[in-house]
Amino acid sequence: MKILVVEDNPMNMKFAAALLTRSGYEVLQATDAYAGIAIARNDLPQLILMDVQLPGMDGLTAARLLKGDEATRHIKIIALTAFAMKGDKECMLESGCDAYLSKPIPYKELLKAVASLLEGAKDNDTVNSH
Ligand code: MN
Repeated sequence: MKILVVEDNPMNMKFAAALLTRSGYEVLQATDAYAGIAIARNDLPQLILMDVQLPGMDGLTAARLLKGDEATRHIKIIALTAFAMKGDKECMLESGCDAYLSKPIPYKELLKAVASLLEGAKDNDTVNSH
């Protein structure tokens, strides 16, 4: 299972990548939305961990683009935000994100969310292969 992490903060990237690698996932990395979208289209990861606050294009705009594209709309997206405010949940889900978590990254919840979304992705793959 391939997971793309789009994160501009080096410490958060290091943490997320180490955690996911240790849990047996193949981790791809991008430090901005443009690189993230390019990697998503090229490598088709099963899931994307998307930081919302990115330089240039923000993570929710990137999520909206990926979810609006036939080739990438099946990719699960977990939004990561530093400040969860009222209305943020709606905003993130409206952008097509499948889940969201507030930073600092809660590692247990993160692994739980990843596992349950990938469970759904596996089912989709089975359906699509018939
Ligand atoms: Mn950021």
